[in-house]
Amino acid sequence: MGLEEYQKKRNFSKTPEPKGTEKLEPGNSFVVQKHKAKRLHYDFRLEIDGVLKSWAIPKGPSLDPAERRLAVQVEDHPVEYKNFEGVIPPGEYGAGTVMIWDFGTYEPLGEKNLSDGLKKGEIRFWLNGKKLKGGFTLVLTRYRGNRKNWLLIKEKDEYARKGSNITEEQPNSAYSGKSIEEIAILK
Ligand code: MN
Repeated sequence: MGLEEYQKKRNFSKTPEPKGTEKLEPGNSFVVQKHKAKRLHYDFRLEIDGVLKSWAIPKGPSLDPAERRLAVQVEDHPVEYKNFEGVIPPGEYGAGTVMIWDFGTYEPLGEKNLSDGLKKGEIRFWLNGKKLKGGFTLVLTRYRGNRKNWLLIKEKDEYARKGSNITEEQPNSAYSGKSIEEIAILK
């Protein structure tokens, strides 16, 4: 996909979001950004092939393997975006408040190269985050032939927790400790 769509959607003289560039060196970071836009959602991003592959998760991630969370794939974001916590001004694309809800690194499970798995519609990875840990699967649902709707599912391991609601238990930024309201004020 690359960054063309990301950059076309945004006016970088008005938004503090990074314009960014595609990275040549491999990396294995991930970030989950809590985004209070028109609707609150969580943006899950994995560094693959020099960009952050991105999914919007309306209900956020869960540590309960029984909770299959809809994850709608959106445009690739630049790797620099993982450091973005702040306010997107009114009228701009994605206007609202962005929090770094969780961040860390991942290791592929199964196939070494997640970009091959992405094309096939299933990837498995181990997250080493501040909040999210353990194995996860992202699988494409092919509902009505579209290639945007995936499910994020926690695998059964020592970090799985039945009935957990980690987004409510740990609502604040893993980066600054701030709440959404505090990030919005300090613009
Ligand atoms: Mn978003």
